[in-house]
Amino acid sequence: MQIYRLPALSDNYIFLLHDAKRNIAAVVDPGEPYPVLRQLRQLGAELVAIFNTHHHGDHVGANADLLREFPYAIVYGGAEDRGRIPGQTVFLRGGDRVTFSDRSGEVLFVPGHTHGHIAYYFAAERSSDPGDLFCGDTLFSGGCGRLREGTPAQMVDSLTQFRVLPDNTRVWCAHEYTLSNLKFAVTIEPSNLNLQSRFAEVWAMRERSEATIPSTIEIEKQTNPFLRWDVRAIQDAVNSRDAVQTFAALRKQRDLFLAIVFSR
Ligand SMILES: [Zn+2]
Repeated sequence: MQIYRLPALSDNYIFLLHDAKRNIAAVVDPGEPYPVLRQLRQLGAELVAIFNTHHHGDHVGANADLLREFPYAIVYGGAEDRGRIPGQTVFLRGGDRVTFSDRSGEVLFVPGHTHGHIAYYFAAERSSDPGDLFCGDTLFSGGCGRLREGTPAQMVDSLTQFRVLPDNTRVWCAHEYTLSNLKFAVTIEPSNLNLQSRFAEVWAMRERSEATIPSTIEIEKQTNPFLRWDVRAIQDAVNSRDAVQTFAALRKQRDLFLAIVFSR
């Protein structure tokens, strides 16, 4: 299975999964149709599945257009998103399994950004290969989704499900937010050397207009403050010793940081 990363809208990524043997494709969170249709045309592939992580328009906006071209594609989404995902045919819960090509994916129920957010984890075919996590707007490289509908406790539970995945798991986040996330992260944990080198690396990549996605679970555990609620330096930064409180304080500070960054 080949994964194509397609830039869409202003800073979204759509992921297209291609099975070259059968010449079929699936797409994760199609926010707009044209990048997907272009790639499908280039591959000459038939779209058989749409995997949605949550109901926001920049993740499901192309469902209807794609279904017009490929009426037999199956549209997957969370059971809690019933009525909010155009064309949805399969209503998934945590622990359910989906398949594409030779890969079997586990559905993780990860509320926080929205009530019904799910993620798809495709374990590796061979143990030496990395698995693939499609996490929508729950985890970003260096950050996490805003709590639009859920609570800090829910988000900590959700992110905990990602923290226990194998270190080499590739993390396919739905937005290119890494640089602005790391600008915040270094203010929280300036003494983290892994974070400082990741920051420098990402800064250089963005200057060359390179994508920073996929990341890995290992990189995120080492550098993402939103997976490090139990690290002493992070807890000190927000003056807390409790995981959920630490997370909540970080998220609040990040929202304010965003306001500052975008209020110029
Ligand atoms: Zn969203």
